[in-house]
Amino acid sequence: MSWNLVEALETSAASFPDREAYVYQGASATYAELIEEVRRCAAGLAAQGIVKGDKVVLLLGNAPEFIVSLYGALSLGAIVVPVNPTYTADELAYILADSGARAAVAAAPLRPLIAALQARLPRPIQPFYVGEEEGEASFARLLQLGAGQIESAYIKEEDTAVILYTSGTTGKPKGAMLSHRNLATNAESVYTMFEVTERDRAVTVLPMFHIYSLTVCLNAPLAVGACIVILPRFHPVETIAAIREQRATMFSGVPTMYAYLLQVPGASAADFATLRLCSSGGASLPVEVLHKVEERFGVVVYEGYGLSEAAPVTAFNPLGGKRKPGSVGVDIPRVTNRIVDPEGREVPRGEIGELIVQGPNVMQGYYNLPEATAEALRDGWLHTGDIARMDEEGYIYIVDRMKDMINVGGFNVYPREVEEVLYRHPGVFEAAVVGVPDVTQGEAVKAYVVRSDEALTAEELAAFCSGSLVKYKRPTSIEFLPELPKNSSGKTLRRALKLQAQQPPSAP
Ligand code: AMP
Repeated sequence: MSWNLVEALETSAASFPDREAYVYQGASATYAELIEEVRRCAAGLAAQGIVKGDKVVLLLGNAPEFIVSLYGALSLGAIVVPVNPTYTADELAYILADSGARAAVAAAPLRPLIAALQARLPRPIQPFYVGEEEGEASFARLLQLGAGQIESAYIKEEDTAVILYTSGTTGKPKGAMLSHRNLATNAESVYTMFEVTERDRAVTVLPMFHIYSLTVCLNAPLAVGACIVILPRFHPVETIAAIREQRATMFSGVPTMYAYLLQVPGASAADFATLRLCSSGGASLPVEVLHKVEERFGVVVYEGYGLSEAAPVTAFNPLGGKRKPGSVGVDIPRVTNRIVDPEGREVPRGEIGELIVQGPNVMQGYYNLPEATAEALRDGWLHTGDIARMDEEGYIYIVDRMKDMINVGGFNVYPREVEEVLYRHPGVFEAAVVGVPDVTQGEAVKAYVVRSDEALTAEELAAFCSGSLVKYKRPTSIEFLPELPKNSSGKTLRRALKLQAQQPPSAP
């Protein structure tokens, strides 16, 4: 494949003009129609003065216009900044200012928010609203402006294509810069590993502004002419209906989605009959959840690992090869994963250390942050901040994030290990473990649990844990919650739970 995603889309459109590129809420478009819209968008943006290197922010939920504006801006050589449209005014103001955005393609309901933000920005941004049919700032008008014109820029593979602001569990979000080559090589790795062809129909329910969705659900299928089944949001019943009705062949989700699918009464293997591949990533998939999904729905779930800074995939369980539950798989083509000690020396197989990554998918750096870049990229290796081990066959097991490790009286406890035990109890729907301050031990293990069986008590669960965990790893406190706080990409917000643990109990 070309290193250029737009060229890959052009090739799909030339090879399969009449095949469906996407379906969305009863509507659909062929590849010929999609490429026409992409060209109009590019020409419209050019007519509005957007040139190569300008930053164009996308503030959209899952919708066809995301794809059109992503590829339209990329074909001009503009740099796309996809942002979570549910961010607060402060979060948005920071990203718009930090990126130096020139324009934004945004969902119409964001108009008042963007108008209010303009005064806080170093220079105003030019908005184009999706969902407004008329007016200066409507996206529809932008596409009309582009009618009949085709603009394309000379793009080099090392030109920055997107800047992704990572959620940043500490401090301000950082903008990971990914080049055209970074994105295209990862899309190519994904469609090669997943054996995606033009006959596939890929469910896109993960948020498009997140790199998992961007590469796995959009760029990879579009590069081979597959159809994207777009869902605006995750709702377990609607997702199952879409898989069945749209005869989807691929589903990519985060672990919590699989846990929710298991809760749907009456859902069975018949609903999933057309799926040939399920992938999981973004957070660790509890082995218990994997087994339950496979048994009940008759599918195979392949877990992989990635991060925004690597565009994102670095490891995946191979199709047709050996799949190891609990492992995120092996190196994907052209990418090397390594486990190192704090001095950067590779550790023997089986031992834990920090996971570092090298490959053509690794980011260029953080935008305008040379120190953070030097910290993350050392000697050509991306330091992920994740602790992992690798077995004799090269399969990687993510132990946990370095910063989530709990230190109980000098002993290391990895939340994931405790969570895996909790998940084995049939009354547990979801679980998250955090370290909380403790006067004698420094830190203690606290578990937050969402029950699937309301009769489950903390005592019963504590007793269950003591059968599988040495004393210092057992939760000293278990609290039940109606749900766990999560970010938009399905990661449990352990920081929010830690804060909650420090709050005094609320008055009755
Ligand atoms: P993001 O940049 O938002 O994609 O987040 C990347 C982070 O998600 C990684 O650094 C890991 O901590 C976590 N992650 C991604 N995939 C997995 C996985 N399969 N198992 C455990 N953690 C994962």
